[in-house]
Amino acid sequence: MKRILVTGGAGFVGSHLCEYLLSQGNEVVCLDNYFTGKKEKIIHLLDNPYFELVRHDVTMPYYIEVDEIYNLACPASPVHYQYNPIKTIKTSVMGAINMLGLAKRTKAKILQASTSEVYGDPELHPQPESYWGHVNPIGIRSCYDEGKRCAESLFVNYHQQNNVRIKIIRIFNTYGPKMEPDDGRVVSNFIVQALKGEDLTIFGNGLQTRSFQYVSDLVEGMVRMMATEDSFTGPVNIGNPGEFTMIELANLVIDITGSKSKLIYRPLPQDDPTQRQPDISLAKEKLGGWEPKVPLREGLTRTIEYFDKLLSVS
Ligand code: NAD
Ligand code: UDP
Repeated sequence: MKRILVTGGAGFVGSHLCEYLLSQGNEVVCLDNYFTGKKEKIIHLLDNPYFELVRHDVTMPYYIEVDEIYNLACPASPVHYQYNPIKTIKTSVMGAINMLGLAKRTKAKILQASTSEVYGDPELHPQPESYWGHVNPIGIRSCYDEGKRCAESLFVNYHQQNNVRIKIIRIFNTYGPKMEPDDGRVVSNFIVQALKGEDLTIFGNGLQTRSFQYVSDLVEGMVRMMATEDSFTGPVNIGNPGEFTMIELANLVIDITGSKSKLIYRPLPQDDPTQRQPDISLAKEKLGGWEPKVPLREGLTRTIEYFDKLLSVS
């Protein structure tokens, strides 16, 4: 039995990961400061004697003996990471330093939840891991993008200088049940709007693209990455290459929900990337043939069922 620390474990992705790791017979310590996470997402795990919940902020050191660390602590929605940009940078950078220090002392393997945002507004399409990116270092997204880029640098340097066993994954837009209705990201926004019969807010002309991955595909990719041999550190893209415009996404949500909602257009936020699609050749090669299994329509249908239930009880 391994003891595994999941920082940001009470968040959207972290809660799915905790559930999966426990189901595989591991001991799981979920650490979170509840900035965007909620106890409700993992409360059903509290009866399991192999699950522990810790209220802690990763910007402060944390001491524990563990075999593996998944470092997910960081707000991921633009609305939330721009709410307190300095705190976002501290979380990414100081959080990485503290968790890498912990990995160094305990000789634990540590996986960093990096992001497709390290590619910024990409000039190369689709994006392979070898692409260095096109990021505005002083724009409104920079607290997140540059924080995550600095974290990648810290991971690589702890590996080279101190032999820490690191894994870096670059996650592309992921969605699924347990997102918060007020999360602010596009999938949850459109679904909640459609279910409430409100108009769907398209930012800009709606022709910008994203590639949407269902959460179970991400969790499988993360766990497979952690299990790779020590010599493979990444970074590796984990995402679904299916690419959609925001108008296509909105129409799909309206179609599945049967909603009468219309599309309304709002200003495009500054530095909003125009296109994004992962090149997943490396993941397929290194992660035992891993590839996303859940198509967008199926994943959206499951997510809509989740929000439908959630909204009907609240
Ligand atoms: P989320 O906001 O639901 O989860 C983040 C969690 O981290 C929350 O529980 C939050 O309370 C916690 N947290 C934030 N700051 C913290 C701090 N200082 N100390 C301790 N805990 C803190 O977001 P998510 O979608 O679950 O994302 C999880 C991770 O995956 C993030 O690191 C994010 O950058 C990365 N990621 C996610 C996506 C995606 O599409 N979901 C894409 C790329 C990268
Ligand atoms: N977006 C939108 N309407 C919304 C929320 C977001 O059109 O209500 C757009 C946003 O401008 C971006 C895309 O959807 O082009 C994805 O946004 P999200 O915040 O989900 O993630 P990110 O921009 O970080 O990929």
